[in-house]
Amino acid sequence: MPKRAPNPEPLPGPSAQVAGDPAALAAWIVDVCTRPMPGGGPEGERGGERGGERAVARRETGLGFALAGIARAEPSQRADELRAWLAAGKHGEMAFLADQLAPRLDCRAELHGAVSIIMVADVYAGRAGVDGPTQPDTMWDDVSITPSVGQSSQPTTPAPHAPLGRIARYAQRRDYHQTIKRRLHRLADALRAIDRQAQPPVQTRAFADTAPLMEREHATNAGLGWVGKHTLLIHPRVGSGFVLGGILTTLDLPPTRDQPIADACGTCTRCIDACPTGAITPYSLDARRCISYLTIEHRSLIPDDLAPHVGPWVFGCDICQEVCPHNSPRGLMAMPAPTPSAARPHATLPLLEMLGWTDESRSRLGVSAMKRATTSMLRRNALLGLLALLPTLPTADGQALRTRIESIATDDTEDHLVRATARQVLRLAGGQKAT
Ligand code: SF4
Ligand code: SF4
Repeated sequence: MPKRAPNPEPLPGPSAQVAGDPAALAAWIVDVCTRPMPGGGPEGERGGERGGERAVARRETGLGFALAGIARAEPSQRADELRAWLAAGKHGEMAFLADQLAPRLDCRAELHGAVSIIMVADVYAGRAGVDGPTQPDTMWDDVSITPSVGQSSQPTTPAPHAPLGRIARYAQRRDYHQTIKRRLHRLADALRAIDRQAQPPVQTRAFADTAPLMEREHATNAGLGWVGKHTLLIHPRVGSGFVLGGILTTLDLPPTRDQPIADACGTCTRCIDACPTGAITPYSLDARRCISYLTIEHRSLIPDDLAPHVGPWVFGCDICQEVCPHNSPRGLMAMPAPTPSAARPHATLPLLEMLGWTDESRSRLGVSAMKRATTSMLRRNALLGLLALLPTLPTADGQALRTRIESIATDDTEDHLVRATARQVLRLAGGQKAT
């Protein structure tokens, strides 16, 4: 069982009067979730959901989430949809989705006696321009292969013009599972400390993509946004650059909203049109075709028909979010910035260097959501990034890169997946017949 990090300090709990009034307690929970963290949070700096002046004027003892809301802990309304999606095999190799069905269909299976579910959203990327532009297309321009085609296994600063692999924005920061759960545990501790006198003690179960729950549906019910055609949650002001977390609890709390936020996709089809692999049909995703799934969850060779479309993505893919008009800079002054503790230590990774990575060199990435992919998978993904690059290179650079990939493809001591991918790259690039 993973070790829980010690909490920095207890969260001051609600007063007895607030704790005794469900509506006041619900309001207190939303308030403390969206209040800036000590030291200044996103809202204190930028205005935020609740208004910067109010936030700065009081003691900032909150949890710093961009959004928070409460819904009833009820069975999923999308059970048939989920079953049909699984039956069609669209979850690919993610067997855990089918194996842990009961709590997805009814969250009360995750916490017996749960009545309410508190949902929060933590922003990792502001709308375009807030935390810098997305990684540019120029990543593929003017690259230099020859000086860095060696076999270093140490992560270093890439040479200028070295080809870079892209990382989905949520994974460029500290592992969100930890940063969110740590804050949620503080709230859960405060809720369990409420003196309920004759009533049974409060129970809680905190999660951040760490429990088999339909997080997006619960977040929709809690008023955190609507599920867009690309299947991600969108909030009208925040966009979709956030990750979700929450707390199931036996506390009986009134829901934040009577009605979910209305779908504002309208006639737009930008995400569907931009997806390189055709993974999206409106409001449904075929994970087997999604680059995010292929680079993070798919443990084996990526099929030939999809491999050339992976492009520079070595971990995840943001394309459908990048093209979404709800992630445009519109409304910039009123939106929360990313959580300040979440620096971006790994916005890109050098593809050539990744070819020589070992578990030890990869571990220097630190506490990152990228730990989900093995070293072999990251090296596989880097090879596919170089596949996309090969046709763009001058002859000499192209030959140098091809020679490097051939050395991997013919190395009997090489990892099976990496070696097979090297062969695949050579074959797809027209340099070698499959063996
Ligand atoms: S993450 Fe990328 S591959 Fe997956 S649906 Fe979005 S655009 Fe398509
Ligand atoms: S790109 Fe358009 S269709 Fe896709 S999620 Fe955004 S608004 Fe909806």
